[in-house]
Amino acid sequence: MNRVRIVIFNAALGPLDYRVPQGMQVEPGSVVVAPLGPRQITGIVWEAERLPAAEVPDAKLRPLIGVLPVAPLKAQLRRLVEWTADYYCAPLASVARMVLASGGALKGPATMTEYRLTDHEPDRMTPQRLRAMDALQGEQATIRELSELAGVSDGVLRGLVSQGVLEPVEVDCDRPYPRAQPDFAVPDLNDSQQHAADRFIEAMQKGGFAPFLLDGVTGSGKTEVYFEAISEALAKDRQVLVLLPEIALTEAFLRRFENRFGSSPVVWHSSLKSTERRRAWRAIATPPAKGGAQVVVGARSALFLPYANLGLIVVDEAHEVSFKQDEGVRYNARDVAVMRARFEEIPAILASATPALESLQMAESGIYEKIELASRFGGATMPEISTLDLRETPPERGRWLAPPLVKEMEARLERSEQSLLFLNRRGYAPLTLCRHCGYRFQCPNCSAWLVEHRLSSRLACHHCGYETQPPATCPECGTEDCLVACGPGVERIADEVREIMPQARVALVTSDTLNSPEKAAEFVQLAEERLVDVIVGTQLVTKGFHFPELTLVGVVDADLGLEGGDLRAAERTYQQVAQVAGRAGRGSKPGEVLIQTRHPEAAVIAALAAGDRDAFYDAETEARRHAGAPPFGRWAAIIVSSEDEAEARNAARAIGGTAPHLPDVAVLGPAPAPMSLLRGRYRYRLLINARRSAQVQNVIREWLGALDFPRSVRVSIDIDPYSF
Ligand code: ADP
Ligand code: ZN
Repeated sequence: MNRVRIVIFNAALGPLDYRVPQGMQVEPGSVVVAPLGPRQITGIVWEAERLPAAEVPDAKLRPLIGVLPVAPLKAQLRRLVEWTADYYCAPLASVARMVLASGGALKGPATMTEYRLTDHEPDRMTPQRLRAMDALQGEQATIRELSELAGVSDGVLRGLVSQGVLEPVEVDCDRPYPRAQPDFAVPDLNDSQQHAADRFIEAMQKGGFAPFLLDGVTGSGKTEVYFEAISEALAKDRQVLVLLPEIALTEAFLRRFENRFGSSPVVWHSSLKSTERRRAWRAIATPPAKGGAQVVVGARSALFLPYANLGLIVVDEAHEVSFKQDEGVRYNARDVAVMRARFEEIPAILASATPALESLQMAESGIYEKIELASRFGGATMPEISTLDLRETPPERGRWLAPPLVKEMEARLERSEQSLLFLNRRGYAPLTLCRHCGYRFQCPNCSAWLVEHRLSSRLACHHCGYETQPPATCPECGTEDCLVACGPGVERIADEVREIMPQARVALVTSDTLNSPEKAAEFVQLAEERLVDVIVGTQLVTKGFHFPELTLVGVVDADLGLEGGDLRAAERTYQQVAQVAGRAGRGSKPGEVLIQTRHPEAAVIAALAAGDRDAFYDAETEARRHAGAPPFGRWAAIIVSSEDEAEARNAARAIGGTAPHLPDVAVLGPAPAPMSLLRGRYRYRLLINARRSAQVQNVIREWLGALDFPRSVRVSIDIDPYSF
């Protein structure tokens, strides 16, 4: 009897057993099609031998339908999937699904049909057709994608196809990517860069798991150094995965990569078109020696792809919060990257100027090898950082920039140097209220204020995407023209700069304005050619950019991140300010940083101003040790949600009421979660603080496994949570 157990992509169902029909070749990792009720489903063969006694007797097993023509997933990758599911308490199915990138990459053929506009006119114009034709200028994609883009039905588009207004284009998803050359433009490294590169290359030649923390100040040339490790992998026909925290950073990365290696790497992120995704997936599953992908640059989801011959993983800006996924499978890509390197037995490089305390601790305890780059490349000096006490030199009424900062900006403008203002708040104002009755605009689905976006004349929720037009009258008291914007967002700061320095050319950099690779490239070009005097931006401008003429950085509100006092507030503030400060003085001219604050005495701010990184990390280490927080203890969160507030509360209480009493695990709560209403669901939270040695996942699994809730209640587990 040939029985296999397959993992299917339905989190509600566990692995299922099937019979392998005569003559069908399957092995662990094979991707197969199987019957489920009346449907056909895709799954991955997980176990094929030594299966434990099964619930379903042999005679009742249904046979597999077929095997898909892709290489079976390797044991290393299956182990990574198992580890991730186990560590993060997530269903195996949900993790396995990420490997197949939602299945889309596999099922279809190597060729797909996309459509694009021709210059034919339809015989009869309808409003729908007009809308579609307007929206699809310059686009080429599958019918399904075009219909989403244009907001019309497939039927409308098919009509346009039959009239020759849209024409089919066959896309070959197996066409190879251009080859990168290991020695296209080899740089001269300085001594400490050379030492770092040598260590990476030695580790790659030796083989085996080797985790590195590349701890180098901003502008020290970390990228340049890990490029040498990539060069070694290219020469050996091994694949490299580079994880970046932000798609917006990809554009600048691609250009540097091209300059060094003569062609672009393969890009992977969630908004690829289906043809691009299929092409990338197939290339990744093919060894470079056979024309497959060499280097993949991607968002965190690139971690679970079936690399044919992975030789190196790099996580750039490894401290970034965006590596933590907070939906679906709640994992931290930085940590999973290291685990993948371990299973693949290859080196992993975590690069950062402001490493997470957890990473530093791993280096301290000898698990990671720490490699330091202590100074900037090419004689550039670190910027001079000082605080601006807003209580002593307040901005004028209705303004947010204090006079000393404005004075420095004006001096820069006179010398044709650039300034950068950082405020981590999109939009114009974080809160809008009625000056007559005090009514505040709140999201109907979330416990959050609506943020005014003046550029797009919208009030928007940054949590669920709800948007509405600012009304002419107050919805509460009916007064006309009564709305007042409270507090600043970057749009408002940009307006202020335009008012006080009308001759300055201002660039606003947020995910609202830099929302495509083209726009990102355009901004970088303008800034590099010095056609921009003042850059105003959110955290998007804190990393990666290298503008030699930028000599002044102003932090508009350093206290913002410290409010709320969550576990990582101090660390995040430190990282953001240190990163954005790192944009100043990267060329031959020295940089200066002014931090606006009401709490210059706060430990983080004082350490930043003193340029004393160790002081910050030491203080933070002590605080964490005292609190039993990571890396000394562990946190986990259980989030209970329902559309019905009482139901959520009761479920959370039921969980709290059965909390285990263990010496090394403390349970706090339940209490309303910080976002107590999110996307229409009421949320309660329990926090679990455990000693490092505690088997906290097992405790949670056993505890929750004994409880049963209605389907309308969602219980999610967040191991090593970030946002609390
Ligand atoms: P980091 O990532 O550490 O902030 P980068 O790798 O961006 O630093 O390097 C900062 C700047 O210095 C970049 O413009 C980079 O091209 C340049 N640079 C660094 N190392 C070298 C080198 N060995 N040769 C030439 N340019 C270098
Ligand atoms: Zn909302």
